[in-house]
Amino acid sequence: MYLEEECLPLSGIQHIAFCPRQFALIHIECQWLENALTFDGRTMHDSTDDPFSYEARGTVLITRAVPLVSTKLGIYGVADVVEFRKCDFGGVSLEGREGLWRPYPVEYKRGRPKQDDRDAVQVCAQAMCLEEMLGVRVDEGALFYGKTRRRQVVKIGAELRARVEYLAGEMHRLYDGGVTPPPHKTAACESCSLAEVCLPGIASRRSSKGYLGVSTLEEPRK
Ligand code: SF4
Repeated sequence: MYLEEECLPLSGIQHIAFCPRQFALIHIECQWLENALTFDGRTMHDSTDDPFSYEARGTVLITRAVPLVSTKLGIYGVADVVEFRKCDFGGVSLEGREGLWRPYPVEYKRGRPKQDDRDAVQVCAQAMCLEEMLGVRVDEGALFYGKTRRRQVVKIGAELRARVEYLAGEMHRLYDGGVTPPPHKTAACESCSLAEVCLPGIASRRSSKGYLGVSTLEEPRK
């Protein structure tokens, strides 16, 4: 269990799932290079980040830019969209609405589904935050991909939950120790927004800060 001030950005889950060094460069060294992939992704998120947006579609209520926190995992963040789906049991009561409603997180991504699980762990982490905040079970969420314009269902199962718990623990282990793992060149490096900072071909360097003309942020980004 973590104090709220000890919590780390939920988005770190996707970064550490992709590459622990990328997580450290972004969230510990606060370095960020914007490439076409991250720019498009941010533009897409901007269109959903309206905290006043609220929409009802039949038995589904749609809320946007929903704040999230889990002191068990030690993470906080914002969900692009949380749908509340009417249900007979196992949901929550909502002010001004009859019946019970089950939360269903939906994360928006540019591009296509990935080979790895970085997007799925992000949705699972959101679901686990909602469970802790609302006291209900969340068994499913979804990813929406801009390239395919399709949703992909994410089952919030035991294996994925265990993966999120492990990754959240690793985030805190690296962050608390101020550890930036050394580069490890893989195929993933080709699509990595931090490849120019990381220089994955140089295996011995542990910290890259100050090497290139990169932006240094006051706060790690979502
Ligand atoms: S370039 Fe490769 S090793 Fe470096 S942060 Fe990106 S994915 Fe990780």
